[in-house]
Amino acid sequence: MEVDLLELSDRSARFILSGVDASFANGLRRAMLADVPTLAIEEVGIYNNTSVLYDEQIGLRLALIPIATNYDEFVPHTECSCEDGCPACSVTFTLSVEAEDEDRMVYSGDLVSSDPKVSPADSSIPIVLLKPGQKLVLEATATMGFGHDHARWQAGVACGYKNLPVIEIHDCDRCGACVKACPRSLITLDADSAKVAADDVLKCSLCKLCADACDINAINVSEDVNSFIFTMESDGSYSAQQLIINAVSTIKEKASRLNKILEEL
Ligand code: SF4
Ligand code: SF4
Ligand SMILES: [Zn+2]
Repeated sequence: MEVDLLELSDRSARFILSGVDASFANGLRRAMLADVPTLAIEEVGIYNNTSVLYDEQIGLRLALIPIATNYDEFVPHTECSCEDGCPACSVTFTLSVEAEDEDRMVYSGDLVSSDPKVSPADSSIPIVLLKPGQKLVLEATATMGFGHDHARWQAGVACGYKNLPVIEIHDCDRCGACVKACPRSLITLDADSAKVAADDVLKCSLCKLCADACDINAINVSEDVNSFIFTMESDGSYSAQQLIINAVSTIKEKASRLNKILEEL
């Protein structure tokens, strides 16, 4: 297996994964979406809410605020020995905001965590706009859970892949038909032949309009069944790099559990 990193930022990554089959690539995608545990607000106790939103709507907004933490600091609630939540699987937040003389937007950054190592991934996510005199006071409990149980625990938000395109051009007569046909303007003509620059191959959508336009079948577009261009984004619960590492760890864990079960048969 090989990984060629194309782009990496704090929240997103793009890389080519080669030497694997589609089921492995899909397993990695699903692990990032559903199997890496994150903290998310699951219970909310409202003490005072005079805003225009019902308590339930406030709860829904709080549940979708990504919470940054370390993978190893907590255990998933379903794997914890407690029943109702404990410091090993959950963190509490308090929020108390009152609009005095002016409108006041309540933001995710107004949540005060009981654990200094845990906080909302972004402090500027709006929760509700308070008008003068309105207030919101609540306590919320975030528990560690899995995206396969509920979207609130989904750390990967835009994880997908496509096969690496392979574009072969032989015996081209430079008629230019494929250049005009390509909706992404990836094909150019040089002195001898039509060509696609190596970087532009990654942008090919595999639509094959170029091949359809070529009367002499000089251009062929196919996909490499063992190479995938992966694109992923994290919701901020983890950095993109950490989310990929965590996803790989969950796959390894599952494989070793299966191995153990098979050995005991
Ligand atoms: S397959 Fe489509 S996107 Fe790719 S080079 Fe041909 S026309 Fe362009
Ligand atoms: S359509 Fe075919 S022959 Fe014409 S430039 Fe493209 S590859 Fe060459
Ligand atoms: Zn617990």
